[in-house]
Amino acid sequence: MKMKWKQQITNLKAYQPGRSIEDVKKEYGLEKIVKLASNENPFGSSNKAKEWVQSYGASYALYPDGYTTALRLALSEFLKVDEKQLIFGNGSDELILIISRAMLEPGKNTVMATPTFPQYRHNATVEGAEIREIPLVDGAHDLEAMYAAIDAQTAVVWLCSPNNPTGVYINNDQLVQFLNKVPNDVLVVLDEAYFEYVTAEDYYNALDIAKQYPNVLVLRTFSKVYGLASFRVGYGFGSEEVIRALEPVREPFNINTLAEGAALAALSDQDFIKKCQEENKKGLQQFYQFCESEKLDYYPSEGNFILINFNCDSDELFQYLMEKGYIVRSGNALGCPGAVRVTVGSQEQNEGVIQAMKSFIAEKAIRQ
Ligand SMILES: *Cc1c(COP(=O)(O)O)cnc(C)c1O
Repeated sequence: MKMKWKQQITNLKAYQPGRSIEDVKKEYGLEKIVKLASNENPFGSSNKAKEWVQSYGASYALYPDGYTTALRLALSEFLKVDEKQLIFGNGSDELILIISRAMLEPGKNTVMATPTFPQYRHNATVEGAEIREIPLVDGAHDLEAMYAAIDAQTAVVWLCSPNNPTGVYINNDQLVQFLNKVPNDVLVVLDEAYFEYVTAEDYYNALDIAKQYPNVLVLRTFSKVYGLASFRVGYGFGSEEVIRALEPVREPFNINTLAEGAALAALSDQDFIKKCQEENKKGLQQFYQFCESEKLDYYPSEGNFILINFNCDSDELFQYLMEKGYIVRSGNALGCPGAVRVTVGSQEQNEGVIQAMKSFIAEKAIRQ
């Protein structure tokens, strides 16, 4: 059957979801599985979110609030931005789609790092835009090369800070220098999915940046430290002009009622966020110590994950860890062959996966 699909999607692959916990348990006869593959919060979410969802008793028959008013007002106060400077997405994934849909088409191009979060590339492909990928240098965005790749047909530049999968961030000076040069008719998307985990002192203040540069749109999410990935709530903030242009492209009811309420409750519990940030910092230290003692290359991370280079077949290590009950992400799937990306878990989970990695190294040494 020959239908008239967009030519650019004919070779596009559907997203490959990671293996489910149940599936892996069954196949390997394991009782306990620790999933450290998708940078979810090992401590779950705030009890306030759980309590809110459990107590929700209103009708399921009514459409949600298409303006996401309650969460919008709370975030507007939390961030000190005007309510018209916010846009909501069914996860920040959907915001990436909305931006792409609003700006990209054949004849336009978009600039991004590589490897970085794959949805920028994926959505640009669907829209038929030219993709300009600039290799990372030491895990970091090469902002000079990215600037050099911009021309009159460039519509969007994607910056991911801290970058997934390396965990490396962009500092204030680097970002300001870059933004001072970028033409103001180019949208710069600053994806800060891991913002709440950042502790670096020379990190920029995205709110100040957005105020100073009306062509910057910042993306954040309730999926990572807030622990609400299953609810799908992401948001963007930027200038009213940019938000006004994007809004008509958004689906009218993209944030459902339960998701909005859960996010609102989670936002009100900043103690939980702070606790998770502190635990994450300790967890990263566990991995750093392991890497130092085993002489493995890694990038110091400002996120809740770490990319470790084992200089081995990533899929083999991935498989080995899975059989021991730990699901991580193989570097082969991330454009980082030889490495794996591990989400920072609880102290006990980290210790467990580190022990499993140690036995992998030991067994490999024996076999060689
Ligand atoms: C996880 C992640 C997202 C997507 O988050 P959702 O809000 O769940 O769609 C976006 N950007 C980066 C860099 C991520 O790692």
